[in-house]
Amino acid sequence: MSDCVFCSNIVSGKESHEFFRSDRIIGFMDKFPVEDGHCLIIPRKHYVNILDIERQVYLDIHNLARYVSRAVMDVFHADGVNIGQNNGECAKQVVMHYHLHVIPRHCGRELMWSRLDRSDQELEKYANMISTRLNDIINLDII
Ligand SMILES: [Zn+2]
Repeated sequence: MSDCVFCSNIVSGKESHEFFRSDRIIGFMDKFPVEDGHCLIIPRKHYVNILDIERQVYLDIHNLARYVSRAVMDVFHADGVNIGQNNGECAKQVVMHYHLHVIPRHCGRELMWSRLDRSDQELEKYANMISTRLNDIINLDII
């Protein structure tokens, strides 16, 4: 969809700090993170939300989230991780292309939900760090 920011910028590969891409799904750094390591997993095909996404694509995304959670916790020395997903405007879905948030959490540090200002260079560095760790985890099947 041409009016979708994820289709036009992320799926096209124009403007993303990716750490994973397959024939069906993409993992990349959130451009406006609430915590360092905050990333998103999306389908390459445009689905609005949980109400129209295909079952297998949904399962692929959530299965990858298991590995990504371990990777971001290792890379950012986090104590936990939040997995989040909004459906519908009243549920605070802003981009109308299915996306799953993976947010590393640190004990004793409250999340303010305000967006951090991170440069493209920093986001690219984080994507590379996650990609390296993710490949190890998937290859070694640590989870
Ligand atoms: Zn889209």
